[in-house]
Amino acid sequence: MVKGLERYAEINAGNLPAKFQIAKRIPADKTDSLYDAHRDLKKEFLKCWKKVDASILEEKPADYSFLHLKVDLLNEMLKECVFCQRKCRVNRYERRGYCKTGAESYYSSEFLHFGEEPELVPSHTIFFNRCTFSCVFCQNWDIVCRDDTPVNPKELAYLIDIRRRQGSRNVNFVGGNPDQHAHTILEVLIHVNSSLPVVWNSNMYHSVELAGVIEDVIDLWLGDFKYGNDDCAAKYSNAGNYFETVTGNFLRAKKHGELLIRHLVMPGHVECCTERIVKWVSKNLGRDTRFNLMFQYWPAYRANEFPEISRRLNRGEIKQAIKVTSVHLDNLV
Ligand code: SF4
Repeated sequence: MVKGLERYAEINAGNLPAKFQIAKRIPADKTDSLYDAHRDLKKEFLKCWKKVDASILEEKPADYSFLHLKVDLLNEMLKECVFCQRKCRVNRYERRGYCKTGAESYYSSEFLHFGEEPELVPSHTIFFNRCTFSCVFCQNWDIVCRDDTPVNPKELAYLIDIRRRQGSRNVNFVGGNPDQHAHTILEVLIHVNSSLPVVWNSNMYHSVELAGVIEDVIDLWLGDFKYGNDDCAAKYSNAGNYFETVTGNFLRAKKHGELLIRHLVMPGHVECCTERIVKWVSKNLGRDTRFNLMFQYWPAYRANEFPEISRRLNRGEIKQAIKVTSVHLDNLV
C-alpha cells in the first residue's frame, strides 16, 4: 500500500465507501436557502465521514441527498461564477467566462488509461474540454480549445460503472481541467452505482468557494504544482496570485482527502520552480507526500514563442531536479 494513499486503497478494496456514496446517503431537504442548508449538512458530514464503513453501501441512497444539494448549489453558483480563482462572476447560463465554458459541459474522450502513476492504473480517465489556465506550452491544447461531446450525466455515469466492471481503480476527472465542470461532474456522481475512488486531476487553481463544495466527494487530489513563484505562473499560464492560491488549496486538500502531487520540470525552471516547490511541499505537507517528478516536457502549442522554454530538458537539468527532490522528499513515484 502506498504511503499517504491508504484510504484510496481501502475504497478500492471495498473496505471503505467512496465519499460521494456517503454524501448520497445523507438526506437533505429541498430548500431555497441552499448555502445555509449546505453549511449545516457539511458540519454533519465532516463529523462522521471518516468513521463510516462500507456497510453504508447496503443502505438505499436518499431521494434527495447532500450530493443533490451540492449540485443545486453549484448550479446556483453558475449565475455568478467563482469556481476558480479568476472569479469572472459571469452568469454562465448567458455567457462564458475566461475558461470559455458555459453551463453545459463537454468532454473529449474517456478510456482506461494505463499511463498514470502505478497506484492509479488502470484509471478511468475522462478528459473534459476547456481549462481555467492558458498555458503557452499546453500539451492538451487540442481538447482545451474546443467543445466535443456534450455530457449526458446518466450516460457518463453508466460508462463509469461499466469501466469499473472492466477493472478501473478509480474515476479520474481531468481535461483541460475539471473545476469549471464541477456542477456536471457531481451530477454524474449522483447516478454512479459503484463505490470507487474519485480522483480530481486539476491545476489546483480552484477557489475557496468551490473547494467548500467539492472536497466532500473527492477521495484523491491529483494536483499539478507547476510553478514555484507568481512571475512564472503569470508569464506562462496567465494565472495571477498563483502560489498563494495553489498552496492554500494543497493544504486544504490534505485536510479533506489524500494527495498525489505532480510536477512537470520545465527547461530553465529548476531553481525558480522545481526547487521552491519541493521545499514548500516538504516543509508544509511532509517529506512523505506522494510526489511525481515528471520529465516529459516538450515545447507544445505556443512554446516556440518563448525561446527559453522552446526545447526539451537537458541531462543536467534532469539530474539537478532529481537531486534537489531527493534531498527534500521521500515518497517519489
Ligand atoms: S470557472 Fe473560472 S474562468 Fe471559468 S467562468 Fe468560472 S471563474 Fe471564470
